Amino acid sequence: MRRAPLVEVFASIQGEGAYVGQPQTFLRLAGCPFRCRYCDSEPTWEAEEHWRLALPDGDRRERNPVTVAQALGAIEEVERAAGLTPQTVSVTGGEPLVHWEFLEELCPALRAQGRRVHLETAGVHFSAVEPLLAHVDHVSADLKLDSTMETGAFGEAHRRFYELCATRAADWCVKCVLTPSVSPAELDAALAALQALAPGAALFLQPVTPMRLEQKGLTAAALAALTELARRRFPGVRVIPQTHRALGLR
Ligand code: SF4
Repeated sequence: MRRAPLVEVFASIQGEGAYVGQPQTFLRLAGCPFRCRYCDSEPTWEAEEHWRLALPDGDRRERNPVTVAQALGAIEEVERAAGLTPQTVSVTGGEPLVHWEFLEELCPALRAQGRRVHLETAGVHFSAVEPLLAHVDHVSADLKLDSTMETGAFGEAHRRFYELCATRAADWCVKCVLTPSVSPAELDAALAALQALAPGAALFLQPVTPMRLEQKGLTAAALAALTELARRRFPGVRVIPQTHRALGLR
């Protein structure tokens, strides 16, 4: 029986990417090997002994790791307690593909319940996502620019990941977080590589949300320049901030 550590299960509104604004239930898995400089989810990097089940009358702490049956039960309990009918489940992290074997059981089980399954990933673990593409309805894959990372470049891994999504995913998009360290040349080179593989990819730029005093957001002029550059390669590009932060949601 496959198990994985969770951080939390909760119902909220999708704040990023192609399905922004859609009510969803979130299953957040623990563990992430990456170190994005803009990360606002450090507590997800390592699995803890307990995870959070968010219920209307207060949180309940449950013990890690969980089985697929326990994860399904948690999703149902969150929705039932909130008076929700079963809805799209966003499988997120951390980096959920660290637990690809768990997801190979979980995702088909969620769909067997009539749910849509959306996967939010860094877009790096291409061999892990391949068998999952038949079992998810949407993939939101990051484009991580080198200047925003502590942990090196992902050029080749991103390339192989996007190739798979472009040919095998039912529906997918690319999300790129922009920080003040991103130069026009860096963004353009990354988008040129993406355009060569997937010229029709749905691209979302996400200006970083400053989370700490030492973090700075992009200037309006810098955002405008980067957006125009992206629009030349991807005319349908959209710029969306982290709307769940603006709304004060998780
Ligand atoms: S992949 Fe996500 S969780 Fe991991 S460091 Fe980057 S932003 Fe944080």
